Amino acid sequence: MRLPEYVCEILDKLRNSGYEAYCVGGCVRDYLLGQCPDDYDVTTSALPEQIMKVFDGYKLLTVGLKHGTVTVIINRKTVEITTYRIDGNYTDHRHPSEVRFTPCLKEDLARRDLTINAMAYSPEKGIIDPFGGREDLKSGIIRCVGDPMKRFDEDGLRILRALRFASRYGFRIDKNTSDAIHRLRYLLSFISAERINFELCGILTGNCGDILYNYSDVICEIIPEMYPCVGFEQHSKYHNKTVYGHIVATVVARLTMLLHDIGKPASFFMKDGVGHFYGHADVSCEIAAKIIERLRFSNKIADEVLFLIKNHGIVINDDTRSIRRGLARYGAERFLKLIRVHYYDTCGKSPEYFGEKDLFGSIEEHTKEYLENEPPMSLKQLKVSGSDISELGITGKKIGEALSFLLEQVVNGNCENDKDSLLALIENNYL
Ligand code: ATP
Ligand code: MG
Repeated sequence: MRLPEYVCEILDKLRNSGYEAYCVGGCVRDYLLGQCPDDYDVTTSALPEQIMKVFDGYKLLTVGLKHGTVTVIINRKTVEITTYRIDGNYTDHRHPSEVRFTPCLKEDLARRDLTINAMAYSPEKGIIDPFGGREDLKSGIIRCVGDPMKRFDEDGLRILRALRFASRYGFRIDKNTSDAIHRLRYLLSFISAERINFELCGILTGNCGDILYNYSDVICEIIPEMYPCVGFEQHSKYHNKTVYGHIVATVVARLTMLLHDIGKPASFFMKDGVGHFYGHADVSCEIAAKIIERLRFSNKIADEVLFLIKNHGIVINDDTRSIRRGLARYGAERFLKLIRVHYYDTCGKSPEYFGEKDLFGSIEEHTKEYLENEPPMSLKQLKVSGSDISELGITGKKIGEALSFLLEQVVNGNCENDKDSLLALIENNYL
């Protein structure tokens, strides 16, 4: 882990004064995820007065002193340095009534909310990970440190933090942690509106589909007006989902929709008094890729959103051939999302084009029917494999492209699914 100079300076100064000092929490997690941390928190065995002495001459903020935190301003950045601490009893399901300092790093890590947030790092000692945070990061699991029932009961905000991190990284929530979230969701009534606002926005800007579906009870706890929507059947030809299901489906695509036409100004030209935007989907995709990287969305979200933006203008017709081709090319899940994106796109058009909404509603319905009756063919069923392709001298990414090409040809009825015909097709088209 490469730390910025100013962070090294802080760790070095503490260590040279005889104290232990580690980076901790979010910065270690982000680093292990391959993302550049926004800020660095430091945890140390030095007591608050000792921290202040070590950083004598630096600009310090001491608002958090009661909880053991001294903020050092260094190179115009702020770094919070907090003494190893154990939280005392929680009396209001949010704040410990007192904190106790401890000389033991592991005790400090044990008070933290999630295993992925309970790791420390120093250049000398490497990563300290007593609760399996690294493993959980690798497997994409959100899990409380210790007993989830106890940890949420101490501080109800952790329920929303767990959902926020699950959404941000597209992780799933461990069973015990998830059970405790459902059981203790009433504790959210102890959390301030400002904190709920912050966490809710965090949830909504991540990969929130599964979270919103699976934790509708938590959402209703903070927005009780939502209760009637959950499970509410619409009995309308425009809808195949409950009201809540529809709400969730639209919310999920918001990042895509926010960025899908961002390349239009750059692709605009006028011909005979009419504006054109040829190639704008690709331009939008390029611009969006930079934004998504800058705002540190996970790779999973980046992949999906960029795919949807790039393909948001492709032609999809309401016939079996077009549906079959879409399914073969993109896979069922992505193709259905792409249809949704087309649908939302028409929602923002001039009212005379609203009719297209029905078209995409109908394509979605027919696609689902098709999937029920005929599960789509997958690459696995293709009678040639990657190694067959590579024997023809095709390498790397091109192998996957060749297989997808073949699958599409078979699905479209242009080629028999037998090895000789498929290999011949590749030889004629690729070599
Ligand atoms: P972000 O990237 O959102 O800032 P973060 O993990 O840095 O993520 P912070 O709110 O800055 O989150 O908190 C820093 C660390 O403090 C967390 O990583 C976690 O170890 C601990 N922490 C924060 N809030 C809680 C809480 N409510 N209960 C227990 N530990 C917490
Ligand atoms: Mg942070």
